[in-house]
Amino acid sequence: MNGKFVNKELNKILLQEEFTKDDIVYLLSLEDEKSIEILFARADKIRKLYCDDEVHLRGVIEFSNFCEENCMYCGLRKDNEKVPRYRMRPDEIIETAKRIANQGIHTIVLQSGQDFYFDSDMISFLIYSIKNDCDVAITLSLGERSFEEYKAWKIAGADRYLLKHETSNPHHFSIYHDKQKLSTRLEHLKYLKKIGYQVGSGNMIGLPLQTIEDIADDILLCKELNIDMAAFGPFIPSPDTPYQNKSAGNAVLTLKAMAVIRIVLKDVHIPATTALDTIETKGREKGLRAGANVLMPNFTPNPYRDQYQIYPTSVRKDLDPSLSGIRMQNRIESIGRKVSQSKGDSLKMY
Ligand code: SAH
Repeated sequence: MNGKFVNKELNKILLQEEFTKDDIVYLLSLEDEKSIEILFARADKIRKLYCDDEVHLRGVIEFSNFCEENCMYCGLRKDNEKVPRYRMRPDEIIETAKRIANQGIHTIVLQSGQDFYFDSDMISFLIYSIKNDCDVAITLSLGERSFEEYKAWKIAGADRYLLKHETSNPHHFSIYHDKQKLSTRLEHLKYLKKIGYQVGSGNMIGLPLQTIEDIADDILLCKELNIDMAAFGPFIPSPDTPYQNKSAGNAVLTLKAMAVIRIVLKDVHIPATTALDTIETKGREKGLRAGANVLMPNFTPNPYRDQYQIYPTSVRKDLDPSLSGIRMQNRIESIGRKVSQSKGDSLKMY
């Protein structure tokens, strides 16, 4: 097939309103540079239409790395005895949240392993205290918890919940996880949405066994769930896990998936993930130009930060806001975008 023919076919698909699984597989499978450029340009145009040039910052606090789960890919899995475990004290967490808010960041992400030591009341206390002190939105990323807890935390003031489905392939889901099931994960996502959370989900690109068709299904699942944020980042092998010798996900495929999400879902927040920046030079900037409109700088204080080893810290290139907020702003402005001054609620709320 000559290039011209491919571009004609590509342009025709890109202008569609609705996309079939075959269309999505076609877009994800684009190989030549020119076609990929066209795909990214289309995603960038739709991003501009729905999000303008604003980039939303979400300040992440990884407050506990204890975890009850045994996900095959994750360095924090229960069976990994090499990781020194920590829990931040509530006052440390609240102080860190204030530091984030003082930098003019309007979303705080509270993330941890699945750690039931932080029970319903403790998390409610954290949400209530942070909301009392700072004018911010709160995103929880605590793994699967009970429906009662989700409800209590919503009442305490939580705004958003990030729970990635990881894979829409039920068979793969059960291979990657010990006891957890995809059907349960989906029930949780639906419940969170039903009780008024803005919900984030997503997958990892390049997990063992994954095919392009699986990624297409992941994108269609995000559409079906009507999620508010889609986080698609590359898998990075973590030492002392069963997948330590597997290959990392591919950066271009990750960028293509992000672009396709923007084109298919349109009014959705898309982060350019830390994992992408880790495996690809200027990964964040490339992500922001391929459909993304969100960055999630890490504010976890030391010594905890180095112990939150979802994937190895030696390769983790956190966008370190403690170095200077200016540097982060510079990276955003260097590509003609600006840091948003709003909380960056779901695009579906406007
Ligand atoms: N325990 C919570 C939050 C922490 S994990 C939860 O499970 O939701 C946050 C995300 O890190 C996961 O959703 C997963 O997509 C990602 N992750 C885990 N291991 C990873 C790895 N090895 N490489 C890249 N991303 C990984």
